[in-house]
Amino acid sequence: MPSLSGASVLVAGAGLAGLAAARDLSAMGAAVTVVDARDRVGGRVWTVRDGFAQGQYAEGGGDMIDEAQREIRTLAGELGLKLTRMLRGGFGYVRLDAAGRPRIVQRTALRGWTRLAEALDAFIHPYRLAEQRWDSPIVTAIARRSVASWLDEVNADAELRATATGLRGFFLADPDELSLLALVDQFAATDAWGALYHIDGGNDRITAALAAPLGDRLHLSTEVVAVSHRGRTVRVAVKNGKNGRAQSALTCDYVLFALPATTLRRIPIEPSLPSQHHDAIVRLKYGRATRTLLQFSRRFWRAAGRPTAFGSPLPFGAVWDGNEGQRGKAGILSLLAGGGASEATQTLVAKDGPRGLVQSLEWLGSRGADLIGSKQIVWEQDPFARGGYAFFDPSYEPALRAWLPRPFGRLFFAGEHTSIRWQGYMNGAVESGRRAAAEIAAVHSRESGVGSQ
Ligand SMILES: Cc1cc2nc3c(=O)[nH]c(=O)nc-3n(C[C@H](O)[C@H](O)[C@H](O)COP(=O)(O)OP(=O)(O)OC[C@H]3O[C@@H](n4cnc5c(N)ncnc54)[C@H](O)[C@@H]3O)c2cc1C
Repeated sequence: MPSLSGASVLVAGAGLAGLAAARDLSAMGAAVTVVDARDRVGGRVWTVRDGFAQGQYAEGGGDMIDEAQREIRTLAGELGLKLTRMLRGGFGYVRLDAAGRPRIVQRTALRGWTRLAEALDAFIHPYRLAEQRWDSPIVTAIARRSVASWLDEVNADAELRATATGLRGFFLADPDELSLLALVDQFAATDAWGALYHIDGGNDRITAALAAPLGDRLHLSTEVVAVSHRGRTVRVAVKNGKNGRAQSALTCDYVLFALPATTLRRIPIEPSLPSQHHDAIVRLKYGRATRTLLQFSRRFWRAAGRPTAFGSPLPFGAVWDGNEGQRGKAGILSLLAGGGASEATQTLVAKDGPRGLVQSLEWLGSRGADLIGSKQIVWEQDPFARGGYAFFDPSYEPALRAWLPRPFGRLFFAGEHTSIRWQGYMNGAVESGRRAAAEIAAVHSRESGVGSQ
């Protein structure tokens, strides 16, 4: 293993990316300090444990782990955590019927996916010929269209349009905001969906387990506000405490930024990043995402032969059983409203409270149960996320993407948005953190002439 003994690294951000990086850096002998602006670790992994009866809980941020996501699954195993299968019945699909009432129109959402994949075939083949490289002119040509304009070009029918709109629960962007490239990239990578899992006991168990060994090397309520790097030293200015009035400075050999681009771009860096790197960070869009957790007196959504998860193009977004393995008669429905549905959901709740949302779930049987708890998280209003996760819009120059993870001097970059294969996922965050830690080790061993031991 390469050695970082004698090197000091400041990790900015105690989300999955930062914590996974800190674990590897510590294992290599670095003196690691982790700072996070929040008063908790985990960032966009947030298991909501307060406000629900019967000791129940559900995920406010990252929820499902796909079978193919090896990095996070392996990490969970190494930390002694168990993964539990979830939503075995897969996703169904709901949309308005001819009379304007929500109806379960498909027992599985696969039909819509398959039709979209077929319609995209003309792009998927050349994209594969370009070997998915975002600096290819093939990719630039695909990227300039929005999904909405492509749907118009191919005279898409109502079903195809509804499926594309329903995908805002996945991309967190409406068809007119999302580059066609995002859709092509997704379908080129995924032929089939694997089984879904979550961490037994809540996804925050993984971030808690990663944070525990840090002890007093973890500084919460500590926001990075400026960075300057000269020679071999990086100086990081931070605001401390909940009111953020106290300022101090930390110095280190390397900084690993594991922040979303939305907050990274607000931090002045001296000397500044190369212009393309700066543009790659500044121009990246983040999706709107409102997560609503509704706890009911009973789990009315369970019916024989019916899935317990549904996508939809409707204002409530996607809805699924949010705590299926947990004890108690009560149960929590998890709603994820992405893109325009995020505002639509907030409008419903502003008007009639959470009960407005409950009414929009009558097609699932919500009349037959009492609402006993609720929690809503609007991620685009969260000051340290400013959105759900990154998405690529038609104005984003695809060749810029390669700049997102690129180191600059003693500054290194991780986070969901820097991942290529798993952008938008917890797995991408873990992978990127580990990659950036390994990059620091590589640079350090080159500079200090220390080889692998
Ligand atoms: C509603 C929602 C649903 C999701 N569903 C899934 C899912 O089902 N499956 C899946 O795999 N993924 C899902 N994700 C995505 C997943 O949660 C993220 O990709 C992942 O958690 C991002 O981790 P990260 O470490 O890159 O960023 P973060 O978790 O955002 O960590 C960054 C940290 O930096 C801190 N920070 C920000 N600015 C500063 C600053 N200036 N100074 C100091 N600290 C700062 C933040 O407080 C935060 O703790 C979902 C996300 C959301 C929001």
